[in-house]
Amino acid sequence: MRSYWRNFIGGEWVDAADGRRIPILDPATGEIISEVARGGSADVDRAVAAARRTFESRVLLEMTPAARGELMFEIARQLDGFADEIAEVEVRDNGKTRPNGYKEVTLTQRYLRYYGGMADKLEGRQIPLGDGIIDYTVHMPFGVSAQIVPWNGPLPVGARSIACALITGNTVVLKSPEDSPLSLFLFAEACERAGVPKGALNIVCGYGAETGAALVSHRDIDHIVFTGSVETGKSVLRAAAERVIPCVMELGGKSAGIVYADADLDRTAKNAARGIFFHSGQICSAASRLIVHRSVHDELVEKLKAEASIRTVGPGVEGCDMGPVISEKQLSRIEGLCRAGIEEGAKLVSGGSRLEQPGYFMPPTIFSGVTPKMRIANEEFFGPVLVVIPFDTPEEAVRLANGTDYGLAAGVFTRDLRLAHWTADRLIAGQVYVNDWWVGGVETPFGGTKRSGYGREKGQEALLGYVQTKNVGIRL
Ligand code: NAD
Repeated sequence: MRSYWRNFIGGEWVDAADGRRIPILDPATGEIISEVARGGSADVDRAVAAARRTFESRVLLEMTPAARGELMFEIARQLDGFADEIAEVEVRDNGKTRPNGYKEVTLTQRYLRYYGGMADKLEGRQIPLGDGIIDYTVHMPFGVSAQIVPWNGPLPVGARSIACALITGNTVVLKSPEDSPLSLFLFAEACERAGVPKGALNIVCGYGAETGAALVSHRDIDHIVFTGSVETGKSVLRAAAERVIPCVMELGGKSAGIVYADADLDRTAKNAARGIFFHSGQICSAASRLIVHRSVHDELVEKLKAEASIRTVGPGVEGCDMGPVISEKQLSRIEGLCRAGIEEGAKLVSGGSRLEQPGYFMPPTIFSGVTPKMRIANEEFFGPVLVVIPFDTPEEAVRLANGTDYGLAAGVFTRDLRLAHWTADRLIAGQVYVNDWWVGGVETPFGGTKRSGYGREKGQEALLGYVQTKNVGIRL
């Protein structure tokens, strides 16, 4: 593990302008493992200026779209050489298990190759206006894209936005998350080796209220991509409104799976457990609520309890199934919300409080007997906590599933295809999974409805969030 990491600005690796640093903790031990340069507003100014210069030099736009695509393929190739180090830092600064650390690399490479392949396929339209006129549309980049990513999956979440921005000719200033910034620095090294033009990608690490706020309110950015919580998202939108710039907002979730009485309960229990316990529940689209037909409620809860009991919890370096949550602050929040659930009368089936050992470990936790008004039925834990709510009719199930402020993902478990369609049609969510959690991937558009945000990442549709349409009309 390197002891110190610098920010990447204008193609140079630089200390913070005022020399400050941020300590990076291993969430499995609570100990400091490294330091990063703490970017402040002077560093944000410098990064935005570098991105602006590179954008205005038109170096990306003078490349053919196919050449910009090739650049993405080359970054993906270069990442092969960083895979071991990335997996290591994902275990150490993020609390991922080692297999998941490696998966972050292959997922990032998938994004780069997918969007690299799209670079020369974003076509405009020709609009018929009659004799003597030629009219066509082109997709223009916005300019400098400011991007803010959260700590749970910085590498693939960051890389997919960077790839979309670069292949469409934008330049990027990304603020990496203060808790787990390291993998994105290795990504920047891969970009450097791949020959990404200096200043096209700039990465500044820093705290949200200081560095993040300085970036999103900067007078010289043209576009914002924000992934994080609803509360922070609102302040980002206020800053964007001041300058009337477009945003892609990927916010939180409280995603519900509806389990009908005819569902395969063994498979459903396995799927739902994976959907909530993977990466200790720190996934925005985690299966955090299960809405279960009353006739199979108790049987499914027993199966879920068994799933929770077979999972080992501990440091990723020890090969456990579930690692720590990111920080003491996050662990205390999760525990506090669990206490609220107990006080409000929910039944604790498993887990519920931290493991008494160094680091920030929360065991797989399940609440049953949850009612829709309880805080635990509405607030996002962003941890390994599942709430189970019974229902009697399909109409009630849909009403419960749609009954929170969020609308990111949703699921349906049934053998009845007609009922699956009926339900998917009525769920207000950006993605609906039937008979498995996370059906989809790099190719499928992903994003929120309601307070979960707007705009789409992933899939072909994401690219449209990085370009604006220009219409050219020519009288011959
Ligand atoms: P957060 O909102 O606290 O922080 C997200 C990022 O915003 C961090 O980099 C942080 O430094 C920065 N930030 C904080 N205050 C800021 C400010 N005033 N101005 C600008 N930037 C600021 O969220 P978090 O706790 O790091 O992440 C968890 C949240 O992210 C959850 O709600 C989760 O659901 C959501 N999330 C959503 C997706 C998605 O794609 N929909 C993916 C991952 C996480």
